[in-house]
Amino acid sequence: MARLIEGRAIAEKVYLDLRQEIAEMKSKSVTPGLAVVLVGDNPASRAYVRSKDKMCRDLGLHSVKLELPSSTTQMELLVRVEELNRDPTIHGILVQSPPPKQIDEAAIVRALDPRKDVDGFHPENVAKLVIGDPSGFVPCTPLGIQCLLIESKIDISGAHVVILGRSMIVGKPLALLLMQKNKDANATVTVVHSQSGDLEKITRSADIVIAAIGQPNFVKAEHVRDGAVVIDVGINRVEDAASERGYRLVGDVAFHEVSKKASAITPVPGGVGPMTIAMLMSNTVKACRQSL
Ligand code: NDP
Repeated sequence: MARLIEGRAIAEKVYLDLRQEIAEMKSKSVTPGLAVVLVGDNPASRAYVRSKDKMCRDLGLHSVKLELPSSTTQMELLVRVEELNRDPTIHGILVQSPPPKQIDEAAIVRALDPRKDVDGFHPENVAKLVIGDPSGFVPCTPLGIQCLLIESKIDISGAHVVILGRSMIVGKPLALLLMQKNKDANATVTVVHSQSGDLEKITRSADIVIAAIGQPNFVKAEHVRDGAVVIDVGINRVEDAASERGYRLVGDVAFHEVSKKASAITPVPGGVGPMTIAMLMSNTVKACRQSL
């Protein structure tokens, strides 16, 4: 039976260190500030924004929650982003995805001051990740996954990591991060996607399988070799009449069967999810530190 990688407990460790650094900053009259911009009323986005705001307040960060109507135009949003770029009390800015369809998300990301782009999606930060410049911001979910592996004493260096999914939020930046030339990376990385042939053969050759495809219970026991480490990034809602909410959250990995074969595995929820928000807080503190 696999060892459970407890994302919540590892996130708490991250918060412990962050609290100390925030206290030191505050003793010098500096408070890191994060602005989260929500356009529209997507209930899932609203819940994400609420939890980010709550975490900021819990850590003693300055938190600004900007809620704009779904009718907001591209120009109106650009004006708000520009105000936040100029605001010296704000060190990190995040525009919650997905915005309404009249908004060109890529253009909004490009309008962010890259020094405040704590999501790490601005082209300047993507470039810094490619060249391995540590002053850049790495997207929160990949950063959280690397932290989970390191804190769980799982060797990344020299490991064959197979990532399922090539999105700009998870798969692609994660591949760049884990193949970097340093002791916390040095992995041999393979990325598979919907057009890859013979997926099973590739994933079975992995020491570490990371699933980020958004397909409930897709990764089965036959996809992993005995003793592999399995990281489940997926968060999928599946109908569940027995649940109060009418649905439950499941990952991209068929947990019951895969956990019998893997040496270590993350649960959903409580695995990668808590790390993503912890890394957002960490990136905000880093943005503040770098602004000093
Ligand atoms: P996207 O939909 O942007 O990308 C999905 C990727 O998976 C694509 O590259 C796609 O391939 C690939 N894919 C889809 N189906 C298959 C398949 N059957 N076989 C192989 N590859 C496949 O998703 P995201 O990266 O944004 O998110 C992935 C999952 O992670 C979702 O469940 C999401 O909710 C979750 N997530 C969790 C986070 C957390 O904090 N825990 C944070 C972010 C996301 P192609 O490119 O060919 O279309």
